[in-house]
Amino acid sequence: MRRRSSGQRQDGGAPAAPGHAVELRGVERRYGRGTGAVHALRGVDLTLPRGTYTAVMGPSGSGKSTLLQCAAGLDRPTAGSVVLGGTELTGLGENKLTELRRSRLGFVFQAFNLLPSLTVEQNVLLPMRLAGLRADRRRAGGVLAAVGLTEHGRRRPAELSGGQQQRVAIARALVTRPDVIFADEPTGALDTRTAAEILALLRRAVDELGATVVMVTHDPVAASYADVALFLADGALAGSLSRPSAAEVAARMAALDPRDARREAGTAA
Ligand code: ADP
Repeated sequence: MRRRSSGQRQDGGAPAAPGHAVELRGVERRYGRGTGAVHALRGVDLTLPRGTYTAVMGPSGSGKSTLLQCAAGLDRPTAGSVVLGGTELTGLGENKLTELRRSRLGFVFQAFNLLPSLTVEQNVLLPMRLAGLRADRRRAGGVLAAVGLTEHGRRRPAELSGGQQQRVAIARALVTRPDVIFADEPTGALDTRTAAEILALLRRAVDELGATVVMVTHDPVAASYADVALFLADGALAGSLSRPSAAEVAARMAALDPRDARREAGTAA
């Protein structure tokens, strides 16, 4: 029941366009040159269908952030191509990339990143304003209702709990009906119970609103909310799990990084 296959939006918006939300082909990202070069990504191929929830996992330094940054057009691959919602990013100038990020991507960060001087509703409307779209207050009301914050539109972020602030960030990410929502450790600053609420909300955004979510996390419980967990090791894909349980994800992580297993067992040096 948790996983309804989607493709049609359930919120009265236009049906999702066919095709994939994200495609990476042979994506490499190298920092520096010569013997000191760091190969953060070593040729990643990835296709993420619309209306899916993907967790990206891997040991520290395996390339998760670099993958997210390249997929979101925030960083440029050294080689390979990224296609977002059918648009090839390679060769797009900075202005076009910024425009694409504002109108077609949503972001949710560990630190919420709300503007403190704006009300909740104004924060939610910000991506529309930045994209030069009409500030659609009905739409803002709709996404605030979807995250359970109808009553809080006039408040400032500081008047809300951490979990509520992250709900605002999710509403803000949904407001433009983006091709993809990128979430970077979205529950990293939250207690376990609040984290579960936020993860369930992202799940609902996929199942009921037809959103596509790509989430970087190191938490096996967080990954268990996703349709697929992808594992990175040393800049390359190192397998995946469909409909993963937290235990399966933890076991896979332990195999990729034995230090994690020792930490779990409380025997880390
Ligand atoms: P993760 O998110 O999995 O911890 P990252 O994508 O941050 O991994 O990093 C992958 C590798 O690339 C690491 O070895 C990291 O040190 C290196 N790296 C990341 N960003 C830079 C940078 N700006 N300059 C040099 N090396 C970097």
